[in-house]
Amino acid sequence: MRKKNALILLAGGRGKRMGSDIPKQFLDLGGMPIIRHSLNTIQKSELIDECILVSGADDIRAIRDIVDRGGFDKVSHIVTGGEERYLSVVNGVLAACGKDGCEAFDGKPEVILVHDGARPFLDDDIIARCLDNVSADQGCVAAVPSKDTVKIADENGIVTDEPPRKNVWLMQTPQCFDADVIYKACLAARKAYEESKNNPSVKLPEITDDAQMVNMYLGTKIKLVMGSYENIKITTPEDITVAEKILEAKIGHIS
Ligand code: C5P
Repeated sequence: MRKKNALILLAGGRGKRMGSDIPKQFLDLGGMPIIRHSLNTIQKSELIDECILVSGADDIRAIRDIVDRGGFDKVSHIVTGGEERYLSVVNGVLAACGKDGCEAFDGKPEVILVHDGARPFLDDDIIARCLDNVSADQGCVAAVPSKDTVKIADENGIVTDEPPRKNVWLMQTPQCFDADVIYKACLAARKAYEESKNNPSVKLPEITDDAQMVNMYLGTKIKLVMGSYENIKITTPEDITVAEKILEAKIGHIS
């Protein structure tokens, strides 16, 4: 039998790199807010059981309105995000698992997926590849092989490392984990964050994705599965132009 899952949909960022007053997940794409594209996919998908939406504190009302108008009844909780993306994930996971965690699985999700609300082109094929490869020992992340050569440089732009291109993948979402595994990683991440707040000499690593958080705190192996080159994240204004082209190709026209 398929394991019960919950998808945490992140919409708690301000999108500073977009340079817009409106958080990027509310910008228009094809006649609807960007966040609604993922909500449509989640609502229709037979693979997703429940959705936890993470919103900026100022946007709860707007998010609630989108959920109510769209009839997105898979959304079980709307919670406030944190200062960093991973802290928004922590809030979402705590809402999914409750204060006692997900280990007992009594009606709680056994698997948790995390998806960026700023990636409108989520689809069932990507979700299936993630769900098929996740286990208690292995997190599973959508990614695509890099088409470009990648170089690591120091703060002066001087190249310090050149990973072989065949080994370089670009991380996407969904990122998918055993629920109890990500719950435990979230507790550890929150503890480290609180300790750093009390003691500024404690330096926190920059955590930019969930796989990094789970691997760093629990040592869980991470498997990459094929995402899609269309599964882009809207970050800067030119991404909207690209997203409109992708949408047009998918639906044949754009309103
Ligand atoms: O900032 P970035 O582009 O990596 O954000 C990816 C996703 O994480 C976006 O959907 C954004 O709304 C979300 N996010 C969040 N809470 C934050 C920062 C980002 O939910 N503090």
